[in-house]
Amino acid sequence: MRQFVLKVHELCNLACDHCYVYEHADQTWRDRPAIMSAAVAQRTAARIAEHAARHRLPAVGVVLHGGEPLLLGRERLREMLTELRSTVGAVTALDLRMQTNGIRLDEPMAELLLEFGVRAGVSLDGDRAANDRHRLYRNGASSHERTLRGLALLRSPRFRDAYAGILCTVDVRNDPIAVYEALLAQEPPRIDLLLPHATWDQPPPFSSAGGTPYAGWLLKVYRRWLSDGRPVPIRLFDALHATADGRDSGVESVGADRGELAVVETDGSWEQPDSMKTAFHGAAATGLTVFSASADELVATPVMRRRQSGLAGLSPTCRACPVVARCGGGLFAHRFRTGSGFDNPSVYCSDLKGLITAMATPGPSELPRSVFDELASGGGGADAVAHLTATQEAITRSLLVAAADRLPEATWSLLGEIDEQDPAAVRRVLAHPFVRAWAVRLLGGHDGPERFADVVAAAAVVAGVDARITVTPRDGRVHLPTIGVVTVPPGVTELVIGAGEPAGLTPTPSVTAGDLTVRLEDADPYRDCHDWPATGTLTAAERLAWAGGLRAAWPSVLRDAPDQAYGLAAGLTTITPLAADPVTLRSATSRQAYGALGIALTPDPAALAVMLVHEFQHTKLGAVLDLIDLVDPGSDVRVTVGWRPDPRPAEQALQGVYAHLTVADMWRRRAGRGEPGAEGHHLMYRTWTTDAIGHLSASGALTTAGRRFVDGLAATIGEWPG
Ligand code: SF4
Repeated sequence: MRQFVLKVHELCNLACDHCYVYEHADQTWRDRPAIMSAAVAQRTAARIAEHAARHRLPAVGVVLHGGEPLLLGRERLREMLTELRSTVGAVTALDLRMQTNGIRLDEPMAELLLEFGVRAGVSLDGDRAANDRHRLYRNGASSHERTLRGLALLRSPRFRDAYAGILCTVDVRNDPIAVYEALLAQEPPRIDLLLPHATWDQPPPFSSAGGTPYAGWLLKVYRRWLSDGRPVPIRLFDALHATADGRDSGVESVGADRGELAVVETDGSWEQPDSMKTAFHGAAATGLTVFSASADELVATPVMRRRQSGLAGLSPTCRACPVVARCGGGLFAHRFRTGSGFDNPSVYCSDLKGLITAMATPGPSELPRSVFDELASGGGGADAVAHLTATQEAITRSLLVAAADRLPEATWSLLGEIDEQDPAAVRRVLAHPFVRAWAVRLLGGHDGPERFADVVAAAAVVAGVDARITVTPRDGRVHLPTIGVVTVPPGVTELVIGAGEPAGLTPTPSVTAGDLTVRLEDADPYRDCHDWPATGTLTAAERLAWAGGLRAAWPSVLRDAPDQAYGLAAGLTTITPLAADPVTLRSATSRQAYGALGIALTPDPAALAVMLVHEFQHTKLGAVLDLIDLVDPGSDVRVTVGWRPDPRPAEQALQGVYAHLTVADMWRRRAGRGEPGAEGHHLMYRTWTTDAIGHLSASGALTTAGRRFVDGLAATIGEWPG
């Protein structure tokens, strides 16, 4: 136990209607003394000191709380702080804090805080409109101005050291950005965003089953905070980032670890954290007081042990949840429901899952400016493409988490175990282009969950993990992404994964051509996601033809597209052989299948090289567009392009520009070597690209990032000799 909250004054000078002390289920405040007496304060300080000494704690935190702690007045406060400093400070480092509404914070009081090294956190819900929703005096008057006066004092150089931060309770009716900006304007050292306390009996305001209004609200703040460069720590977001990295959250509200704290009430009662007051009358009680029991005896009580039991103490739903290590079932009090007690997920479950999933989904801030500019030149080396690949994997994971409630729990758990043992194996399988293609269909309600078992089985094979997995064969075949096809006897629905390859496996063929190694995906049921049909399983002769074609084309890629070749080798993992078209060359890309190209094999290595480079440009740009809007999503502007008779939507025109710029460059290099007909091709593609860039720039459809991107492409062409 390293944190102690002391309720030094039971009453408050405000009457906020969202206050859990007075307005929620617990009403024990009515029977307690208004003020913590000197005797209780002395005994409490002695108990904390005893605990710190017994466990050799290098530091403990003590928060003076209420009601409103400043109502204690300066003299009583001085006595209390003197007691704590002398008794607790004698045995360990004492981090003294206070949570206040700031109204009674004047200069003499701030001097007192400074003198005793107390840092004050101030409760403020945002701008005046937001704050006035709840934080009012008993007569209905606004507290905003008085609170800002207190904050102004804490912001001043003299008292800055006494400023701990701001605690803001979220109300989804408030504009999240206005709230964020109002809090930031107070220059706090830290911001806490608090979900209003609620239970399954008393659900959060403005929430409906399965809805995620709080996740949506918090995400708006999160995205803005990221794009501002995280100007101030925001505890909830920092805690979730920590859990994403496998570190402790350091907070009660999320994460598997629980930095446990104890509360001492004005009458000396040991209590559980205050948030319990929202569950039911007396919910925070432990039956112990600082006069009858030590902190160790408090920790040994069943209620405190349950709180500290980590993931094992969670409900079965939480234990099977894909984000449990990050969420931890939310705040203990928020799990309460009459009948099942605390053996439930958080009443904020949908919001927590939505928030955690969306935070894991890469956004604009995940694309460094240098990588963006490199891609905006039309090029993109191996490192830039590796960056895109990593963000694509994160997107696939987020899609799976979003679909988790449609997937079998046991298979989820197995994937989690494999991920812990061999994360590289799971990464490899999730990077298979057609895992995302399926996940998108599943989320859109166009497909079932059966493919998930194939994905997990593939991960088990790659990781060498023993497993028995129930699968759904298609025509007697199970396709394991990245591995191949397993043929199973009729009626068999279980794959037994052990050492080595599964029985009946036909590995997916692959080809290495110089720096490029690709799978020839001729069997995956989700490969047929291009607008031209895929071939069936390749014959041995067809596989040989592909190997020969790619090996003949690769030198042309290296020679004619040197700025794209190594990025292509880093990001292209899969080719789906397409059926031949007797009329024209056929190649394609799917936005939902990063790393895969569909190509109908041509015997002309120069043409195959152009198709590889051209299509991979679409792949790269698709991955950029997954992170950043280059075209205003609300724009319906169409842009004239030379390669099509009809004007194209701006984003499609940009895709064409991005690919054709590279093709123009390849023909430019070929013309430079005097290849017959190359100059004509170069001029055609160059004119198309230059004209479309002009039309796009004038269209008004580009975002700021889009203009920067298109300017980069124009600059690349500008460097070519005329
Ligand atoms: S998201 Fe829901 S199910 Fe998952 S751990 Fe959190 S509360 Fe439990």
